Amino acid sequence: MPLNSVPPSSVMPGTRRRLLMLPLTLPSLLLLAAPGSAVAATEDAAGRDAGAAVVRAADRTRVGEPTLSPAGLAALVPPARVVRGAELVEKPPPWQLPVAAYHLTGRFGASSSLWSSTHTGLDFAAPEGTPLVAIGPGTVVSAESDGAFGNKTVVRLDDGTELWYCHQSAFVAEPGQRVGPGTPIGRVGSTGNVTGPHLHLEVHPAGDTPVDPDQWLRARGLAA
Ligand SMILES: [Zn+2]
Repeated sequence: MPLNSVPPSSVMPGTRRRLLMLPLTLPSLLLLAAPGSAVAATEDAAGRDAGAAVVRAADRTRVGEPTLSPAGLAALVPPARVVRGAELVEKPPPWQLPVAAYHLTGRFGASSSLWSSTHTGLDFAAPEGTPLVAIGPGTVVSAESDGAFGNKTVVRLDDGTELWYCHQSAFVAEPGQRVGPGTPIGRVGSTGNVTGPHLHLEVHPAGDTPVDPDQWLRARGLAA
């Protein structure tokens, strides 16, 4: 009984009072601000009363609030960049992961009896024959067998970074071929020094010492 003892009508007066006060107060405030246009002020009050925290551009103009020029708007949007140390890494162009479905089986820097030193790439395990695609815009430098790396395709990106696709069962892209994100490169395989089919991906900035592909991909908005 105590829970039901509060009649629903005890809530109503407050609500009703608030609803009645709105049309009386808001338009009169706006009329003080813009006495010359009562109709426009009423529309604006109705728009704001509808709960819009965002005032439409048309309303801003009518009420005389400043609007943003295209240049001003562009200044508010931060460029897609990631800064790591002193290096400024650009996020564009569109980038794409080299394999659509996979699971990671070997990380950069890991140690194993399989490798003479620490692991120099990132391993994407996938069934034999799974398509491999280009990650970004570049040119195929080579596609040939390379000892422990097996069938290896090297793609040089436009910034000079070289990407190595290792252990392939088949080559698809040819040396000299121009590629973009998603262009077929080859197929997952188990050629070279492997225990099962996977892509061993290496990233060589400026064609030099390999870096962690996972970090490199993340800087381009891709989570492997
Ligand atoms: Zn590997």
